[in-house]
Amino acid sequence: MIVMKFGGTSVGTGERMANVARLTQRAFEATGQAPVVVVSAMNGVTNSLRRAAETAAAGDPETFRLIRRELQERHFQAIAECVADVELARGLRAEVSELLHGFETLCQSIYTLGELTPRGMDAVSGLGERLSARIVAAAMRSLGLKAQMVEATEIIITDDQFGAAAPLFEETIPRAQAKLLPLVQEGIVPVVTGFIGATRRGVPTTLGRGSSDYSATILGRCLNAQEVWIWTDVDGVMTADPRIVPDARTLPTISYGEVAELSFFGAKVLHPMTMQPVAQMDIPVRVLNSFNPDHPGTLITNRPSDHPIVKGITAIRDLSLITVEGRGMQGVPGVAGRVFTAVARSGASVLMITQSSSEQSICFVLRTVDTPGVVKAVEDELALELMRGSIDAVRSHDGMAIIAVVGAGMRGKPGIAVRVFQALAERNINIVSIAQGSSEYNLSLVVAQEDVDEGVRAIHRQFGLHEI
Ligand code: ADP
Ligand code: ASP
Ligand code: MG
Repeated sequence: MIVMKFGGTSVGTGERMANVARLTQRAFEATGQAPVVVVSAMNGVTNSLRRAAETAAAGDPETFRLIRRELQERHFQAIAECVADVELARGLRAEVSELLHGFETLCQSIYTLGELTPRGMDAVSGLGERLSARIVAAAMRSLGLKAQMVEATEIIITDDQFGAAAPLFEETIPRAQAKLLPLVQEGIVPVVTGFIGATRRGVPTTLGRGSSDYSATILGRCLNAQEVWIWTDVDGVMTADPRIVPDARTLPTISYGEVAELSFFGAKVLHPMTMQPVAQMDIPVRVLNSFNPDHPGTLITNRPSDHPIVKGITAIRDLSLITVEGRGMQGVPGVAGRVFTAVARSGASVLMITQSSSEQSICFVLRTVDTPGVVKAVEDELALELMRGSIDAVRSHDGMAIIAVVGAGMRGKPGIAVRVFQALAERNINIVSIAQGSSEYNLSLVVAQEDVDEGVRAIHRQFGLHEI
């Protein structure tokens, strides 16, 4: 069985939903079995829902009402475009109105309370998938397929880390099998809401922004799928983001480890957790273009290939470099440990760490949104040393970015770093800091944000990635 996921632009209009129905029919005919389909919200909808909740919490009673009207109009329009049957369309409009009524009621109470909890945010932001999945299932029926919308809240059981919940496989596997396999056996296509799940007690959660990819591989693992196909709006995993590097190329194959590294370091094409459920089970993942379905896309498996040595260049923006400096760092064991314990307490994650050989400073990179909390936490931890002057200061520099150069073939190959430095030096781009990941799949460099796009293009060209 195949699990197929369609992203936001792939379900962005009624026309696109009709296209999803056609691609589903094609997969059905090719494999002789109903695929399991996972869908995202229509593109932009999750952002609108979140903005509605945020403005409501900030005391604005208008914006969420306006957003409700816009969402209703957009989804009604989509229904008109892809559902021909008058009765089916009418029932669907009623369902959309009811869900949006619930959304408005939720925003109203957020407004009244003047408070938005992570739990409330998850309840609001998961609505987009619940809307789109219904319409996509109806579009399939309009094409003569048997299809049924399935709420992921009834299948994917998660912990209660609202905003970035993790699946609990022990509970999810039997539910997925009990709910989805009978449908597939009867030739009915299940259309499952991506992005969302629920706790054991039934409270709705989300798996993190952009996580419908992850929903698909979670289900792929639960159902022991033959393959998972991620349908998006580009021809597969590319050597760089084509919006930054116009001559980026599609990688025909790449390994789980490499793709995980690319997505952790900013390649938006797949959610960073996507490979985790399938890598162990060796379930291949294909990344395909719903706008260009005859392109073979990218095949992701556990087989690393040495060609090309560097597979891709990615970047993460909006970062800060934190530096802890002073004589007191030297030879005093445990300062680094205390610093990172303090960082962990503040809940932030560290993207990169470097320590100078003189042991006089520790540098690490964080998202700028996390910086104020982290600086405070580290200063509190080192209060005594700061007072005595054995540590000079905890400094932060905003406006930083990381460029990551990724490829399994880099392991043990000399000369890669030199070529990266040369490419940047030729463009007068200053490298603030460097780290090599322990996997050796990844060389990361900190540069100023204003240099990041040019730096990515320069390294891409240096390794000839526009020619593969
Ligand atoms: P979807 O809605 O289908 O999930 P996303 O917008 O989340 O799609 O991801 C696809 C986008 O990821 C592409 O349009 C592209 O701009 C961006 N992207 C960033 N890095 C890469 C890369 N290395 N390969 C392909 N696409 C990338
Ligand atoms: N709709 C969700 C988001 O925008 C999940 C996804 O698209 O994958 O984050
Ligand atoms: Mg995505």
